Parts: sequence; structure tokens; C-alpha cells
Amino acid sequence: MLYKVPLFDLNFDSEEEKAACDTIHSKWISMGPKTIEFENNFKKLIGARYSVALTNCTVALHLAMDILGIGEGDEVICPSLTFVATVNAIRYVNAKPVFCDIIGYDNLTIDPDHITRLITKRTKAIIVMHYGGFPCEMGLIMQIAQNYGLKVIEDASHSPLSVYREKKLGTIGDIGCFSFFANKNISTGEGGMLVTNNSDYYDKAILLRSHGMTSLSYERSKGHSTSYDVVALGYNYRMDDIRAAIGLVQLNKIRKDLDIRQNLRKLYISNLTHIHSIIIPFKDHNDFCSNYIFPIILKDSNSATRDLFRNKLHMHGIQTSVHYPAVHRFSIYQKYNAHLPKTEYVSDNEITLPLYSGLGKEQIEDISIIISECIQ
Ligand SMILES: *Cc1c(COP(=O)(O)O)cnc(C)c1O
Repeated sequence: MLYKVPLFDLNFDSEEEKAACDTIHSKWISMGPKTIEFENNFKKLIGARYSVALTNCTVALHLAMDILGIGEGDEVICPSLTFVATVNAIRYVNAKPVFCDIIGYDNLTIDPDHITRLITKRTKAIIVMHYGGFPCEMGLIMQIAQNYGLKVIEDASHSPLSVYREKKLGTIGDIGCFSFFANKNISTGEGGMLVTNNSDYYDKAILLRSHGMTSLSYERSKGHSTSYDVVALGYNYRMDDIRAAIGLVQLNKIRKDLDIRQNLRKLYISNLTHIHSIIIPFKDHNDFCSNYIFPIILKDSNSATRDLFRNKLHMHGIQTSVHYPAVHRFSIYQKYNAHLPKTEYVSDNEITLPLYSGLGKEQIEDISIIISECIQ
């Protein structure tokens, strides 16, 4: 079905095209100067000391687990209302995911009180995910982590440039992980970034990104070194320069893109706020936010009612999505026996409406009218 209003649209133009072509013409297309420039500009933009460009965010999360020494027998507290990659990363290192509920329907991020109740002798880390770009309760979470000696990983896939008490998300915990997948705020097709302020973690990330080798082909091509050793069991998690060149263009556009999203979100809120059977999560949030998605939740509803409602919107040509099917209910995660009533309610009754910087104000007016008609 061709939607009149898609859920998301790329903000690409001839600049991205030129950047990719210029890189191809330069004849250096794998990880090299553009990747270094992309890393430097990204870390400046979000105020992190170190940044490591990677194939995607899933591998950033895997490296984070590896670097922080999490492994067999360890427990990692994580949200269930997230994309499955957040939790898979815990399993890649044979640790156990311990699912934590959300705060409530106004704040869909991980619940610090529940975190505290889930801590055991085996707990090593907490992974948080800044849902839609809205910050988790990082003050409380970092305090809990300090009290119990836990590491904190931020899945910041949704939240480039979002702030929490003057700090950018992804720079507050031990390691932050960003995604540049096609539909994220910054798109390179596939891509990710690991950021940290810790030089040891950075050194490990650089090593593990490229097979645990002590030098890179780009350095060897520059005559900086002619041989290498392999000192750790690493991976090939490298970004390439074609994507990095596209990413550099995207970084120049991000601030303006997010400003537009901020205004579109306000318009949605003013149009939908009178509909009493809808909850708009984070409605009163005023700090700068990436607004990766615009979620609404149906009150006194169930998954069948929600799906019927989604179908009606689709019939009107409006594409929607669900963020997210709860991870603890997927077949491979059911054995962890999580009890997460709020997460389950949101998973069954959330609808994600279209949001991207190319979306017109008239389209939001139209969507809002259709919603108020369909909700009867
Ligand atoms: C997109 C996303 C990921 C995975 O990112 P990739 O770059 O596609 O690997 C992980 N976590 C969350 C919350 C995401 O939205």
C-alpha cells in the first residue's frame, strides 16, 4: 500500500549524493579520512571525549558489553519497551537480561524504583534506552549505579542532541551507543557510533572494531606502519567512508531538522490534547529533544482495539507503527518470566504517528482530524 503520509521520510538531497560520489571518486571507500572526520564532528556535536564509528548500533551495544567486561553469569537490567537489539547485546556475551518496567504512561523510560528492586549480587550493569529521544531519569539511575557499583550503557539510538540537565544523552553513562539506520534522526543507511569519556574504553573499542589488530590498513597505506599484531579477539565492526561522508552532511542538517520536529510535535500536541481517550507521553517535556517518534497511547483499550484503530488510519493513507512489541514477550525471551504490566499495556495500546522534518503542518492538521473522527 502506498501511504499518503508515510511514518518517516529521509531528509536526503543532492548534498548526500555528492558526498557519496566524491568519496567514490577519491578511491578511498573503506574506513579512512571521512570516518575520522565523522567521528570528530560527532563527538564535538554531542560533547563526548571519544567516539568510534561502527557498522551499526547493534554492534556498538555488543562492544559496550564486551569492553565493560560483562559475561557469563552476569545480570544486566534492561527495558523491555525497546528494540530487540538492546537486549540481544546482553545475550551476545552470554549474560542474563533482567527486564525492568517503565515509569508510567506519561514517561515510557525505565523505572529507577523497579531497577533498585531487581538488583542482585550478580547485577553488573544497567542498559537504558531514551525512548523517542526523551531522557531516562539519569540522575537517579547514575546514583543507583554508583551505590551498587554498576556500569551504565545508554542506548541513545533515538536521542542525538537530546539533553538531560545540560548534558547530551549518550554522554552521561559509561558508554553511549547511537544508530544511523535509515529511519533514525541521522541516517547513513546502516551505521552506528560508540561514545565514551573513558580513554581505556575508547582504546578497547578501537582495537575490537578491527579484529584486535594493532594497526589499520589506512595507517599502513600512509606508511605509518608496515606490520601488525593481533592482541585481542576482535571483530570487523568498521564503518566505511562512503557512509561517513553521508553522515557528515547529515550532521550539518541535524540541528535544523530537530528544530522543525520540535515544532511539529507542539502542533500535534495542541491538536490532540483535547481528545480524552488518548495519552500523549512526555506531553509536558520542555528540554531540547530529538523527537525521533511521536507516540500516543489509547486509554482503556486493548491490542485488538488498537489494531482496529491503526487499520482505520491506514485506510486514510496514514502509516503508523508500534514502538515497541515488548521484548520479554518474544519467543526467545519468554523464559525470563518478566512481570511488566505497564510495558505490556503500552506495547498493546501505543501507536506511533508520522513524524519527520519534511512533514507539513497541514498534514498534521489532517491527521489530527482523522484521529478525532476515527476514535469515536
Ligand atoms: C535502531 C535501534 C537499534 C539498532 O540500531 P542498528 O543501527 O539498526 O543496529 C538499537 N536500539 C534501538 C532503541 C533502536 O531504535
